Amino acid sequence: MLPRRPHELPPTAGLPLRLADLRPGAATLADDIAAQLGTPPLQLECSGTASLLIALTALHELQPQRRRVVVPAYTCPLVAIAVQQAGLELQLCDLRAGHYDMDPAALRAACDERTLAIIPTHLAGRVADADDALAVARSVGAYVIEDAAQALGARDKGVSVGLAGDIGFFSLAAGKGLSIYEGGLLLARDPKLQEQLARTAARIVPHSLGWEWKRSIELLGYAALYQPRGLRLAYGNPLRHALRRGDPVAAVGDDFPLTIPLHRVGRWRQVVGTHAATRLPAFLDQLSAQAQRRLPRLRRIDGIEALDDPAGAQGTWPFLLLLLPDQRRRDAALAQLWSSGLGVSRLFIHALPDYAYLAGVVPPQDVPNARDFAARSLSISNSPWVTDDDFETICRTLESVLA
Ligand SMILES: *Cc1c(COP(=O)(O)O)cnc(C)c1O
Repeated sequence: MLPRRPHELPPTAGLPLRLADLRPGAATLADDIAAQLGTPPLQLECSGTASLLIALTALHELQPQRRRVVVPAYTCPLVAIAVQQAGLELQLCDLRAGHYDMDPAALRAACDERTLAIIPTHLAGRVADADDALAVARSVGAYVIEDAAQALGARDKGVSVGLAGDIGFFSLAAGKGLSIYEGGLLLARDPKLQEQLARTAARIVPHSLGWEWKRSIELLGYAALYQPRGLRLAYGNPLRHALRRGDPVAAVGDDFPLTIPLHRVGRWRQVVGTHAATRLPAFLDQLSAQAQRRLPRLRRIDGIEALDDPAGAQGTWPFLLLLLPDQRRRDAALAQLWSSGLGVSRLFIHALPDYAYLAGVVPPQDVPNARDFAARSLSISNSPWVTDDDFETICRTLESVLA
């Protein structure tokens, strides 16, 4: 194992908060982000998962006879939990071999007149093939919801992700770029669908002083600790503890509660997000430039594939997602790097059917490509705190494992 870095690096590049972000001001977060991205109005919700739950509920009202929701077999467990909480049926679709997109043939096999929605997913900031999902959805009369939780700011053919499909959502959770600790932004191209989403939210999302207090205190903690000195306490120590227990699911925070809270986002957290959002465009540019500088170095390492965007797309770069040749060498690299404080980690630990705690939520299914993706992938933080020396240490370790 490598010696531990003196200060801990985060696994993803979140936009750090400043003390000045906590001052009073305007609460125009959703409007400001919509203006930055060039989208129709955005609807602020209490999490990305809550946004998805509202979207599914709204679509089910429009198509009550359809109950199936098709999702990639390798994605955030919260997506499966949202489908369950909406009272709908989860239908997994395996991935394309060695890729984050759903397999086109498997997608067609998974969809029919029972399908309510398909959820292409812009994983790790990489731009997914929403057009293929849209073609399949149109052929069976279903909707497309783009999961852009990890891709705020990503663009495809010059426009923000989330606009190719019927609905899109972004996450404002801790560590996912811009954060108000927990939050989500909902997007729909069609004004009628925007109204439907607003009506559904007005009906099912209550005010909750208790939740807003909790989130406000958590946001203060995040503002204080999301920096290399604080992250050991907030992230590194719990990570190493979970790894010593042999619990990788807890180590990456994949162990979500099975009930998603729904409540309105209070004004103060919106103000904090509004201040921080002024720095978002420059921050995303900085991350993109850093990734473009570092990708060629990774690609010179024999046996490493660094995932990139399709032609015509500009994703965001919270971290670099790699595929190694096999699980043995991926695990050998993690044995050196995971606990070292260098920001190397894994994305989701399992394909969805392989989380024991989701047994009642996810139907068993053989999804070999999703399992292979889980077994061979590894992430390297693209935080600006990862210095060139840190990055070189990571690359040399990968080289020695792959030699
Ligand atoms: C984080 C995430 C979500 C859920 O977003 P939250 O804001 O954490 O509720 C959904 N999908 C993907 C791919 C995610 O990474």
